[in-house]
Amino acid sequence: MNSGSNTKTILFWFSIILLGIMLWKLVSNKGPSADSVSYSDFLQLVGKNEIPDARIYLEPNSVTVNAARRNSQRHVATTLSYGDLQDLKERLIDSGAKVEYANQRSGDWVLLLLNGMPLLLLVGFCLFLMRQMRSRGAQALATRGPGVRFGLGYDLHRLDAGRPFIVGGVEIPFDKGPLGHSDGDVLAHAICDAVLGAAGAGDIGTLFPDTDPQWKGVSSLIFLEQLAKVLQDRKQSIGYIDAVVITEKPKLGPHFAAMKATLAKSLKIKPEQISLKAKTNEGVDAIGRGEAIAAHVVATLVSC
Ligand code: MG
Repeated sequence: MNSGSNTKTILFWFSIILLGIMLWKLVSNKGPSADSVSYSDFLQLVGKNEIPDARIYLEPNSVTVNAARRNSQRHVATTLSYGDLQDLKERLIDSGAKVEYANQRSGDWVLLLLNGMPLLLLVGFCLFLMRQMRSRGAQALATRGPGVRFGLGYDLHRLDAGRPFIVGGVEIPFDKGPLGHSDGDVLAHAICDAVLGAAGAGDIGTLFPDTDPQWKGVSSLIFLEQLAKVLQDRKQSIGYIDAVVITEKPKLGPHFAAMKATLAKSLKIKPEQISLKAKTNEGVDAIGRGEAIAAHVVATLVSC
């Protein structure tokens, strides 16, 4: 439990204790339990010198007297008008009784405030908690975002004679291959950009610049393996990857199973979380003339 939670707990129990004190005060102000008697019967008891001690409670429209009886454990109580109060007081004093005024139970704004303070504190504390919960919810939404995030990746490489034709981490026999600082794997590069985009962590050029000699000629699967730490730091994981590879030749379909297995292993996901499609460019532009290969990827990330 952190210090903030401790403070809230202390405040909560403090409010409960104050509320308990308020209730006790309200109950105790009514004085000890007593047998209710008429005012005339009470005067007779005073006249018989049976009242040694009396507490007078001033109500808004009447006066209540709670008195002990001599040689008895029981108290008696009666109600009278303000007009009879002076007379009763004189009779009690004349009989030798001790007379005292108890706290006024109403009509005193200070008393009302004191009695209502614990309740006000409790209501204020509840409002404070509600505000904190709303604030934390908004903060969580702002920092973690929605449950699913989307990222888009694209890459294109020129095809050069004599280079190995590597797509999705799989080398396919062909007379050309993608030209690049690394192995030029357009599918791996586009996946990397899609995942980084969804994570809000930049792009492949920022994390693995082609000016850095350590990435020269390496397998692009290394880049995918690096994504695991990026996602772990952000408490995210890959939900699904959908990809389209565009090349005039060779046919990629027969190699999809191997590509999925290879990519999934590097990304630490299941092959079923990857969808691969292949298209030609119908002989149009550089891709159609067999001079380039490209890939489009959409990736979804989910919060862990
Ligand atoms: Mg590239």
